[in-house]
Amino acid sequence: MSIYITTAIPYVNSSPHIGFALELVQADALCRYYRWRGEDVFLLTGSDDNAFKNVISAREHGIDVAEFVDRNSGAFQNLSRELGVSYNNFIRTSGTQHHQSVHQFWRNLNSNDLYRKNYNGLYCFGCEDFLSPKDLVDGLCPEHLAPPTPVAEKNYFFRLSKYQLQLEKLIENNVIEIYPEHCRNEVLTFIRNGLHDISISRSAERIDNWGIPVPGDPDQVIYVWIDALINYLSGLGYNDSDCWRKYWREDSLKIHVIGKNVWKFHAVYWPALLLSAGLPLPNKIFIHGFFTVNGRKIGKSLGNGVDPTPIIRDFGADAVRYYLLSAGQPFNDCDFSLEKLTSAYNTNLANGIGNLFSRLIKLSRQSKVPVRQLTTSSAFLEKQAANVESFRFNTALNFIRDEITSINREIDQQKPWEAIKRCDILTLERILPDWLNRLHGIADLLTPFTPECVEKIKIALQRPDNCPVEQLFPRIKSSNG
Ligand SMILES: [Zn+2]
Repeated sequence: MSIYITTAIPYVNSSPHIGFALELVQADALCRYYRWRGEDVFLLTGSDDNAFKNVISAREHGIDVAEFVDRNSGAFQNLSRELGVSYNNFIRTSGTQHHQSVHQFWRNLNSNDLYRKNYNGLYCFGCEDFLSPKDLVDGLCPEHLAPPTPVAEKNYFFRLSKYQLQLEKLIENNVIEIYPEHCRNEVLTFIRNGLHDISISRSAERIDNWGIPVPGDPDQVIYVWIDALINYLSGLGYNDSDCWRKYWREDSLKIHVIGKNVWKFHAVYWPALLLSAGLPLPNKIFIHGFFTVNGRKIGKSLGNGVDPTPIIRDFGADAVRYYLLSAGQPFNDCDFSLEKLTSAYNTNLANGIGNLFSRLIKLSRQSKVPVRQLTTSSAFLEKQAANVESFRFNTALNFIRDEITSINREIDQQKPWEAIKRCDILTLERILPDWLNRLHGIADLLTPFTPECVEKIKIALQRPDNCPVEQLFPRIKSSNG
């Protein structure tokens, strides 16, 4: 089966923080899982270069916008590499391919769905969206704590209202599956409360001509959110490439991984636009929670975003991936702190898989029991499949942790080093191959999560007498001393 997995594309008005690392790692874990099962997977990530927020930040820094966007987009691409994200394409919405795809998509929209109208609204530049008076709290955007700007202009509108019933049915019948359930309910309530047509262009003058002009009307720029959503098509080479034909088709599995603040765009606007353009719909939308830092919400404006790069350097990509995916429920918010990361690292990685690995390789060498063919039981794998395919990464990792603890406990009880001392080959042949086989199974299950350590385990299991005994996860001293 062809499988297509995407992250949202962040706007690049600053360098990435730990929150976006979570989304990258979730998408990559899914991707590695399906590839490991033999599926043909394409993973897309990228950057939203066209957001007006990028222009505002570039001005504040006194830097040319294009140069500013290049630099920050590069930082996001570096983060993907540092985390070992196995993406197939990194799409930038400032690129020519994307511009062409957006124009093609606009022209493919049902022409009855577009019209022009004068519009008065309250615009939040932080959200890059119009807010209705009932969205405001004390006159402020509740997310950005800033007053919206009154804007009056003539824009293109998309007939979203026309798709209300169709969208409701598609989600009710799980043609588009939304995870988790509480977000699915929120989306359905939003749709049932009535969909209004949406403005899908902006005055080019008001936003410094930054972005993609409306085809045939250079005075209008395509609303950045519409432009950004189309990255999921342009990233495949819409609408004329083999890649596009292979991954965006009715019978491919298309999964969007997004944060909880952008479901309106992905679960409502995007499917309606695709219906209008006569294109296949995404199958699954997985909505994750956010990371707080030391108990506080992360915000670019709050200035408490944690830079993931030095953390990856100190702990390793595997450890950061492990922490992000295991620290909490994937659908709820969860907290990041260096103390929590250090503690999870020492408990689950250094004392868990790291300890089990070095014990078993050492025992295998000392015992001289020949290594047999290693296989992982399918029952063991199926347990894992149900968790990963429903995005419950923490449950998947808990299952692996329990298996590691259980083998470590058996080793303590059976004391194989005593059998080695007595040269009791019969006992060793009875217990050791089973443990090695189970370590192999653990490595299989860890494949989506900690790819570097899995590779080391697999190489060592092939030639235990030849590999250097290195520690997979050397203990780290906690910052409290
Ligand atoms: Zn806002």
